[in-house]
This record gives sequence, C-alpha cells and structure tokens, in this order.
Amino acid sequence: MDFSLSSEQLEFRKIVADLVEKEIKPYAAEMDREGGIRPELIKKLGDTGLLNLIVPEESGGPGLDGMTIGIIYEELGKGCAGVATSVAANSLATYPVLLRGTEEQKKYHFNLLNEGKFAAFALTEPNAGSDAGSVATGAVKDGSHYILNGTKTFITNGGIAEVYLVFANTRKSAGIRGLTAFIVPKGTPGFSFGKKEDKMGIRASTTCELILDNVRLPESSRLGREGEGFRIAMNTLDAARPFVGAVSVGLAQSALDMAVKYSKERRQFGQPIASFQLVQAMLADMSMRVEAARLLVFKACWLRDQGVEFSREAAIAKCYASDTAMEVTTNALQIMGGYGYSKEYPAEKYMRDAKIMQIYEGTNQIQRLVIANKLIY
Ligand SMILES: Cc1cc2nc3c(=O)[nH]c(=O)nc-3n(C[C@H](O)[C@H](O)[C@H](O)COP(=O)(O)OP(=O)(O)OC[C@H]3O[C@@H](n4cnc5c(N)ncnc54)[C@H](O)[C@@H]3O)c2cc1C
Repeated sequence: MDFSLSSEQLEFRKIVADLVEKEIKPYAAEMDREGGIRPELIKKLGDTGLLNLIVPEESGGPGLDGMTIGIIYEELGKGCAGVATSVAANSLATYPVLLRGTEEQKKYHFNLLNEGKFAAFALTEPNAGSDAGSVATGAVKDGSHYILNGTKTFITNGGIAEVYLVFANTRKSAGIRGLTAFIVPKGTPGFSFGKKEDKMGIRASTTCELILDNVRLPESSRLGREGEGFRIAMNTLDAARPFVGAVSVGLAQSALDMAVKYSKERRQFGQPIASFQLVQAMLADMSMRVEAARLLVFKACWLRDQGVEFSREAAIAKCYASDTAMEVTTNALQIMGGYGYSKEYPAEKYMRDAKIMQIYEGTNQIQRLVIANKLIY
C-alpha cells in the first residue's frame, strides 16, 4: 500500500490549488451572492482543462484516472463547492458517453467539453427523485426518430450546458426497464429551460428545470439500447459518487483550517479559545473525520480505477464524506460563535454548501440502502 501521490498528481493538485487561491476564493462570496460562475472563471476552468477531465487522450482530453480526478475535486471543493459542483457535473454527464457512446456520439460530446463547454445529466423529475424508475418523460418512436415530452427538475448546469444527457422512458409503465438515455443538444426545437432554482447553498452552480415539448431526435441521439438507461444511470452514479465525496472532503478541510486559525486568534477569558480543551476536542474530532473521509474517498477512487465492482465503496465514500462535511462545517461555525454565523466569514457558506452533498446523486438514505443491500444480498 502506497499513500504517496505521483509527481503528475502533485502537479495537478498544485495547478488547481493555485487557480483556487487566485480565481475562486476571492470571488466565492460574490458568486454565492449573485448566483452563477463568473464568465472569466468559466473560461479559466476550460483553459486549465478542468471541464474535460474524463475525456480520453485519444479524443483530445487528459483522460485522467479517478484518483487524480478525486484529488482535483478535493482542491476545487476547498475553494467553492458550487464551482466544484458545476465542474463535476461535466464528468457526470460524460461518463454515460464514455460507457456506451458510438464513435460519432463521443466525437460530438467530447469536442464540446474540449472546447470548454458545460454538460448536464438529466435524470430527476418533479415526481421521480430517489425513485428513478418512475421517470415520466416519454420517448415515443416515430419512424427513425423519437419524440420526447416531459420535464426534468433540479438539473445542474441547466441552461449553461451545451449538451444534455436526458433519461426518458421508451416503454410506458415498464418502470426502470423502459429507461433510455438520449443526447440532447442545447437549441434543439422544443427543448427549453424553465425555473432556475434559488438555492440555499452551492449558489455558484446553476440548477434549472428542463422542458421537453415534442422534442424530435434522430435515432442516432439514443445512447446505448432502448431500456439500457437505468443501468447506464446507475453505473454513472457509482462512478461519480466518490467525486461528491472528494468535494465534501475539500469543503470540510477548508472549514477545519478556518476554525483552527480562528481559534488561535480569538481570545476569551484572557486566552486564545484554542487553549480550551472543549474546543480542542471539537477540532480533534473534525480532523479525524476529515482524514477518515479522505481515505474512504481515495479507496473508492482507487477501486474505480481497478475496474472492479465498487458500488458499496462508492456509496460509503459519498455518504461518510458528505456527513463529515455537514458535521465539520457545523462545528467550524460553532467554534467561531457569532462571527461564524455572520456573512463576514465563509463559515455560514460552508455550512449551507455542505447540506446538498447529503442530498444529490442519491440521498444519504439511498446510499445507506445501497450499502445495506450489498451486505445482505
Ligand atoms: C442543487 C441540486 C442539484 C441537483 N443536480 C442534479 C442533476 O444534475 N441531475 C439530476 O438528475 N438530478 C439532480 N438533482 C436531484 C437530486 O439528485 C435529487 O434531489 C435527489 O436524488 C433526491 O430526490 P428528491 O429531491 O426527489 O427527494 P425524494 O426522493 O422525494 O426524497 C425525499 C426524502 O425521502 C427519502 N427517501 C426517498 N426514498 C426513500 C427510501 N426508499 N428509503 C428511505 N428514504 C427514502 C430521501 O432520502 C429524502 O430524505 C439535484 C438536486 C439539487 C437540490
């Protein structure tokens, strides 16, 4: 077992850490307030090669392994979990194409990402969240085309993405067996954007409703076979969950660093609050949780790279790391007292940002079901 990082991984980490210090942290509060990523930053994310991380080398991308991507997402999470979410959604929306795309589909999708464009993964609907099998968006065959009708909700990068991985049902009332994936370019007639969510946290990332009104797609837009969508979606979520864990670890690390610094500076009863053992105990527990979460995330990323079954470990990493982010950000705010609660410091943003990590890409209740299923069956 080797816990050291390769020189390439260290180099990537440094590049992203520099970007975070110069281009993300100074603007994180502004992006949180305004709701959206600064256009200058979008360009820099593309130029730095962060929007096409999983595009293979032969297709013009860096083709990075999961471990290196995990390291990169942890760094982004340290700067702004909203920005990290938008970037990570690109991997989420690209994995299905990597998995089942034809050469033509890969070329189209990967080229957009290589040009620094955003992509989106659209599974959730108003009445289909945890229960993905109840997707109501229909895809009806019409000669050599499909006609799609329905609404997708809570879609990260909705509106700002150039391409959408949309899951629709090709066999009405067949549940998960009817789920089929489609590649839908922005601008396709009948495809529009609805309500933009006004969110509690990760406000730099855009979350939007998608409306499909008689969207006519050629058969060549279908990804994989009819009815293969559920498997594609689940494999994709398995592959992406360690990355939610990685962003959570970065977020928790930033909150911990801030709490340590503050506790050494803030004086009460004539001494720094860091000298109080109750505060020290909180810091020690926070540090233990962050370290354990990081190791679980690394293990899940490593297993992902070995090409072995890792659903349980992916769920463990996502669940533990996001619970850690929630606990550590809450305690960081507690250590900072009233100042933590004020917008003067990023503590309250960290806490607001952490909450979504326990909800998206499968709630932590669903992760616990995945883990328990693997233990029992
Ligand atoms: C900011 C944001 C970004 C998102 N981005 C995307 C995206 O890019 N693409 C996308 O497709 N979706 C996205 N989502 C949707 C997200 O994945 C869903 O919100 C999530 O899966 C939960 O679905 P739901 O909100 O409908 O909750 P529900 O499924 O209605 O769950 C409500 C509660 O019931 C619990 N619950 C449900 N079923 C069970 C069960 N069987 N056992 C125990 N408890 C259960 C849940 O854990 C939860 O606590 C995003 C959501 C948000 C808020």
